[in-house]
Amino acid sequence: MKIAFIGLGNMGGPMVLNLHKANFTVSAYDLSEQSRSRISAAGVPVAQSAAQAVAGAEIVISMLPASAHVETLYLGFDGKAGLLEHILAGTLVIDSSTIAAACSRKVAQVAAARGVAMIDAPVSGGVGGAVAGTLTFMVGGDAKDLARARPVLEKMGTNIFHAGGIGAGQTAKICNNMLLGILMIGTSEALTLGVANGLDPKVLSEIMHRSSGSNWVLEKYNPMPGVMDSAPASKEYAGGFGTDLMLKDLGLAQENANAVHAVTPLGGLARSLYAAHSLAGYGGLDFSSVIKLLQKS
Ligand code: NAD
Repeated sequence: MKIAFIGLGNMGGPMVLNLHKANFTVSAYDLSEQSRSRISAAGVPVAQSAAQAVAGAEIVISMLPASAHVETLYLGFDGKAGLLEHILAGTLVIDSSTIAAACSRKVAQVAAARGVAMIDAPVSGGVGGAVAGTLTFMVGGDAKDLARARPVLEKMGTNIFHAGGIGAGQTAKICNNMLLGILMIGTSEALTLGVANGLDPKVLSEIMHRSSGSNWVLEKYNPMPGVMDSAPASKEYAGGFGTDLMLKDLGLAQENANAVHAVTPLGGLARSLYAAHSLAGYGGLDFSSVIKLLQKS
């Protein structure tokens, strides 16, 4: 089976590498020359354009930053044809980017009119999960399309959930990321308070991890430098999940909450705090750097 993979960034890069290692025939593409070279150096065949990547592919996977990138890629922009013009009827498109559910539905509708099936399959698990092939996929779309995608998704993740119809994966994802954004700030506050009182952040992290405050941030993604060697905090907050991507997800959560009249005060506050952090110049750093908002400079 030939798979085209578009978007080779922090997440897409390790995901396509796992498909290559699983012996799928892969053709990868990214707008960035740097991302293409990195993946090519790892032995994955790289195409010179997205249209070239999808030629002859039975499955197309995309892992792009936000709604605008996905819409532009598939539907085109400013009179320029989109990638759907190059994708043959009968192909399955799996979009794993975190985007607005409405955007997933819009692209899927145009795809369906051309005989191309599409599912939304955003992920959780971070760069560590992408490298290890242990991502969680939250899928929206037809059960038969998920059944077709499953053998491919299983090479990149360990948990695959069918959330509902097209767009439902995106809704599940923004609920999860709203909670994660809040948990990161709450964990940062608790650690900063302990350290201001002279506690060792490693000791305090272990106490909270074994107590009722335990959460994924304490387990895998500690925001204090030096507590976890593998966390972005110990690499000057490089790589990982960008502050601006978290800000995008919290914006999607608030738009969604407004649309359905849900009450999400902590999600709204978290969005404002990440927005202030981004404005201060930290948008490109991992989102755990939000702890800097609480620390003396
Ligand atoms: P990233 O910015 O590292 O990578 C995105 C890549 O897409 C870049 O290399 C960019 O050049 C490429 N790109 C953009 N437009 C393109 C186009 N038209 N054609 C080809 N390539 C294009 O982002 P990421 O961290 O890999 O995240 C990707 C998606 O996954 C986002 O929606 C993000 O919210 C989500 N996500 C990220 C994480 C994480 O921990 N980083 C975790 C879960 C979900």
